[in-house]
Amino acid sequence: MSGLENKIVLVTGGSGGIGQALAWEFTRQRCRVAIAARRQETLLACAEEIARHGGEVLAIACDVTDRQQVKDLGAAIGARWGAVQILINNAGIARAASFTEMADELWDEILATNLTGTYNCCKVFLPEMLRAKWGRIINIGSTTAKVGYRHVTAYTASKHGLLGLTRSLALETARQGVTVNMICPGYVDDERTRENAQVLAQKAGKSVTEILQLFAASAPQQRLIEVDEVSSLAALIASEKLGGMTGQAISVDGGATMV
Ligand code: NDP
Repeated sequence: MSGLENKIVLVTGGSGGIGQALAWEFTRQRCRVAIAARRQETLLACAEEIARHGGEVLAIACDVTDRQQVKDLGAAIGARWGAVQILINNAGIARAASFTEMADELWDEILATNLTGTYNCCKVFLPEMLRAKWGRIINIGSTTAKVGYRHVTAYTASKHGLLGLTRSLALETARQGVTVNMICPGYVDDERTRENAQVLAQKAGKSVTEILQLFAASAPQQRLIEVDEVSSLAALIASEKLGGMTGQAISVDGGATMV
């Protein structure tokens, strides 16, 4: 038994590749799962599919960059089920640009979503976890939280920032029943990675398959990561069994980063 039955979970970005897998995983664990993202249509389609398979799911449109919208999200989940016990900060955007060509707007948008969005959710949902003396915060990072990569300065800075947030918050909550951890996936086999590969393929005059092969070859296991590998780890981190693990950033990247 994972001890997750009936727990109230929030997955931000729950309509995307990894977010959807997280929502499925936690509903399979018999949790009540709220999914949030900006575009209501995709969000509802995702929730309907999960509900059709018997999962208990709630879809609420929310832009995590807007604190008031995050507060409203908390109120809506609270009215239906109660306080969020497991917060998965997964909403994120990734866009590449060389530093000198990068527009300031791109920097602002990536930092606001990946870092401040997570900050907003922690601000809104942590206090109830502290009151209950139990909670789990799982931040979806990236290998870019640990090492630098060219042409993704903003993304890398946002994920490094998320690592700092994870560690400091883990220290502050260490004696209060709350754990704060991070999962750092490598290239995941999802729609976003295929879109990124398409952009790079056009720029480099290569095929999408060639670019995907390059992504895969960047890891010692020479493969992309499955979304289920990320969601299974999240369920393990959220379980009662791992109450002693906090402040950690676990890579699921085929061995690409051993730090
Ligand atoms: P997707 O683009 O497939 O999904 C992103 C999700 O976040 C969507 O549901 C999107 O919905 C939502 N989202 C984006 N901006 C906001 C916002 N401001 N407020 C609320 N929701 C938002 O991405 P992935 O599934 O690939 O990525 C998920 C996470 O995993 C990200 O944090 C990413 O950095 C990380 N990651 C991904 C990797 C990969 O290879 N795919 C590798 C390593 C890490 P909407 O647009 O409707 O708001």
